[in-house]
Amino acid sequence: MKEIWIATTNSHKVHEFEQMFEQDCIEVHSLLELENPVEIIENGSTFEENAVIKAKTLCRYLNKPVIADDSGLEVDAMDRQPGIYSARWLGHDTDYTTKNLEILRRVESAADRTCRFVCAIALAQPNLETRVFVGTIEGQVAWTIAGTNGFGYDPIFYVPSLQKNLSEISEEEKNEISHRGQACRLLREYLHENFR
Ligand code: IMP
Repeated sequence: MKEIWIATTNSHKVHEFEQMFEQDCIEVHSLLELENPVEIIENGSTFEENAVIKAKTLCRYLNKPVIADDSGLEVDAMDRQPGIYSARWLGHDTDYTTKNLEILRRVESAADRTCRFVCAIALAQPNLETRVFVGTIEGQVAWTIAGTNGFGYDPIFYVPSLQKNLSEISEEEKNEISHRGQACRLLREYLHENFR
């Protein structure tokens, strides 16, 4: 069976990738399995750079194919913040209700409420050029927090075409349109044709 490593310690991400690759007969491993996990310093300035840093670091360490993702929310009226700092914005341990309310406060009087989620997935393979697959979903900062599905910034992400926030649609519906869903589909298409 073919195997691929995921440069993450997030068990939810591992599970998502496991589900995705099950149909392709690709076995998934992650940093959770390593006794002495390699240190990864995420010091890139874009989602793409961070995804590449993570994938290449683990690929060099294991000499095996590795994928890594980096994602976040860009709010135009906030100079595209929190961006690559989405997870640690206002502090790693700050709850998302606080983070979401703070974004609503900051864009309160903004004429432009446009925002987007971005997801970059890098695939690093020994002796091959690293590839990056990017997905984005455009939306607007909602007027209020609504919905209970999803996670993170979903409760304030309004999708104009659906007239709903991301937290008001099902996981399957979100996968169809989300930044992560799009980047994953591009990665899978590439792997179908190129991964042996
Ligand atoms: P990372 O990609 O694990 O570094 O974390 C990205 C961060 O961006 C998450 O912790 C969330 O704060 C935010 N984020 C990324 N994708 C989503 C999403 O689909 N919904 C809500 N928040 C997201």
